[in-house]
Amino acid sequence: MTRASTYDLGGKRVFVAGHRGMVGSAVVRRLASEHCTVLTADRRELDLTKQEATLKWLEDNRPEVVVHAAAKVGGIAANNNFPVDFLCDNLAVELNVIRASHTIGVRRLLFLGSSCIYPKHAKQPIAESELLTGPLEPTNEWYAIAKIAGLKMCQAYRRQYGDDFISAMPTNLYGRGDNYHPDHSHVPAALIRRFHEAKIAKAPSVSVWGTGTPLREFLNVEDFADACVFLLKNYSSDLPINVGSGDEVSIADFAAMVAHVVGYEGKLIFDTSKPDGTPRKLLDSSKIRELGWRANTSLQAGLAVAYEDFLKGHGRHLEVGGYYART
Ligand code: GDP
Repeated sequence: MTRASTYDLGGKRVFVAGHRGMVGSAVVRRLASEHCTVLTADRRELDLTKQEATLKWLEDNRPEVVVHAAAKVGGIAANNNFPVDFLCDNLAVELNVIRASHTIGVRRLLFLGSSCIYPKHAKQPIAESELLTGPLEPTNEWYAIAKIAGLKMCQAYRRQYGDDFISAMPTNLYGRGDNYHPDHSHVPAALIRRFHEAKIAKAPSVSVWGTGTPLREFLNVEDFADACVFLLKNYSSDLPINVGSGDEVSIADFAAMVAHVVGYEGKLIFDTSKPDGTPRKLLDSSKIRELGWRANTSLQAGLAVAYEDFLKGHGRHLEVGGYYART
C-alpha cells in the first residue's frame, strides 16, 4: 500500500462525473471545503456514453483531477432486469472517461466501484485480495463485471503509462439524493419509501423482500464522499481500496431500524418470493483505517437524515434507463 505524498487539491480543477447522483452530489458538497474548482456537466451538455463528445469536453475543460462517480446503478431487481444497461452502458462510460482522462493528461483519477465486485462466497470480512477468486453473485454480475473492468482499466493505465489512477470500493451506500424508485432502488431507499407510504395509508403490514437473514454493511454517502477526498489526497496504488463503516446488520434488523426512524408501527412481512442476493457482504476496511480514515455517522443518525431528505422530496424517483447517476 502506498501513501501518496499528500496530494494538494487546492487550486485544482476537479471534474466530478455523475454529479447529479447520490455519490457525485455528495462528493461535490464535500469538495466545497477544499478550495478547488469543481467542474460538472449536465447530461444535456455531455453524454458520457459518447466517446468523441467525452474527449472533447475534457479537452475543452482541462480538469487535473477526475472523480468517476457516473454509473447506471440500481438494486437487486434492476440489476436482474436490465443486464444490457448495467453491463454495456457502464462499460462505455468507464472507457470513455478513463481513456479521455489519460489522453488529456489528468493527474489523479478516482474510479468508484462497488462491493459487489467480490465473489459471492468471498471470505468475510472481504479483503481487497478476494477480487477474482470465485464466481460472482448472479443477481448483480452485470454491474460487477463492468466495475471490475473499470478498476482493471485504472490498473492498466498505471502499469503501461504510469497514470496515477486509483479505485475505491464502497460498501452499500445510503443517504441524501438516493433513488426512491419502488422496484429499482436499493434496500434503504426502498424501505424508507414503502414504510412511509404504509404509515400514511395506516397499512397494518408492509413487505420486506427476501428472508431478512442476509447481512449487509451500510455506509452513509457523506462519509463516503469524505473518504473519496481523503483517498485523492493520500492514496496512490494499483490496488483498489475498500471503504466500509463496519456497521453490519441483518436485513430484518435493518428493516426494523428504518421502521423506527419512519415511525411505522405495523407488521413487517418477509416476502420470500423475492431474492435475498448474496448472504453476506462485509468489507475489510483495515487498509483505509490504517491510512487514518474512518466513518463517523451512525446508521441511526444517517437514516434520520435520509428520511428528512426523502420528506423534502430531494430524492430521485427515476426509471432505470438513459440516466447516469451514481455508483
Ligand atoms: P444488494 O446488496 O446488491 O443485494 O442490493 P439491495 O440493496 O438491492 O438489497 C439488499 C438486501 O435487501 C437483499 O437481501 C434484498 O433481498 C433485501 N431487501 C429487502 N427489501 C428490499 C427492497 O424493497 N428492495 C431491495 N432492493 N432490496 C430489499
